[in-house]
Amino acid sequence: MKKELKPETMISHFAEEREKYEGAVVPPIFQNTLFTFKDWDAIDAAFDDRINTSIYSRGRNPGVNIVEKKLAKLAGGEKARLFASGMAAITAAVMHFLDAGDHAIAIKNIYGPANNLISVYLKKKMGIETTFVSGNDLDEYKNAIRPNTKLFYLESPSTAIFNIQDIESICKLARSKEIKTIIDNTWASPIFQKPLKMGVDLEIHSCSKYIGGHSDVVAGLVIGNAKDIDSISVNEFELLGGKTAPLDAWLLMRSLRTLPIRMKAHQENAIKVAQFLESHPKIETVNYPGLKSFPQHELAKKQMTGFSGLMAFKLKTSNLSQIKTFFNSLKIFKIGVSWGGHESLVYAPAISYLKELSPEQFNGLGISLGDMRISVGLEDAGDLIDDLEQALETISD
Ligand SMILES: *Cc1c(COP(=O)(O)O)cnc(C)c1O
Repeated sequence: MKKELKPETMISHFAEEREKYEGAVVPPIFQNTLFTFKDWDAIDAAFDDRINTSIYSRGRNPGVNIVEKKLAKLAGGEKARLFASGMAAITAAVMHFLDAGDHAIAIKNIYGPANNLISVYLKKKMGIETTFVSGNDLDEYKNAIRPNTKLFYLESPSTAIFNIQDIESICKLARSKEIKTIIDNTWASPIFQKPLKMGVDLEIHSCSKYIGGHSDVVAGLVIGNAKDIDSISVNEFELLGGKTAPLDAWLLMRSLRTLPIRMKAHQENAIKVAQFLESHPKIETVNYPGLKSFPQHELAKKQMTGFSGLMAFKLKTSNLSQIKTFFNSLKIFKIGVSWGGHESLVYAPAISYLKELSPEQFNGLGISLGDMRISVGLEDAGDLIDDLEQALETISD
């Protein structure tokens, strides 16, 4: 048997038919709406195999397809589809498994817009009922199952509070009840976690995070078996129309070539930063699955082969003016939403929550003013630590 190529090798070359493009080392961008055919029979035959033939770029585009093939291979899935955004991918996947009146079980603290989509929007439009579970107690799922339960929606690690779900056990339960599973695998990336191999039906990513990695593309991804992905292709993909632009797919191909080494570098930097924060007297707690002190570290290690760069920590002070001074004093960590790019970022979740919630509701959520979320980028770890240190020094004892 031939040895499987390592991701670093595979991702550089797989699915690139360079002889078709005069040997060009980078495939061209197919910036065209339609494809032309030599005669009646040729276009007639194309429609008989429309999933695998390029006819119109809302359906299939050869440049986009190269990237889809690489990502399917990397995740250990049969097929993949790129979407215009992570949310377009989530919408397609959820609607693929749910019909009007179905029931879904989702973990609390999934990505906010995904929560809104399932529990508010699809409830209104399709009568979908959702039960939220804390995430890691199998009995909670068992107790929540109804005769019309069709979907478990997971996000592990969850990106708001870093909850880890036992993917294999949850999928086993789902299969025994003929319930489908979707996981948002954006935090781990397809490098550090392979949910399809643990029994998940559809794996989702926001490619706007690590897969893109350069903070210059918004895109999404669904990976699964050929039957599900082909059905999504002719239904949710073509009908809802949330396709990726050829240029964006081409930028993702550029990004993929460095994804394995970028993830290693994010991991190396993140662990150094997390350890620094954990040992600092002005920090109350650090929430990072890669730390030994992380409550679910053993489960995290069991199902992931590495840890990415998004983490949270809590400042000891609850004085808003000191918290703001710390936040504003960071120089290398840029202030902004999103994460997973080359650049380090900081955000304080309180900024969003305080707009929507009363102080009492806010306190009830278990979030505090001093909670910080950072995305550790690819800069030098020592420089990042120095930046955090000088900002922490602005907090008086
Ligand atoms: C950003 C994000 C999404 C949504 O992706 P977009 O590309 O912004 O639509 C989904 N899930 C998680 C965990 C995210 O962080």
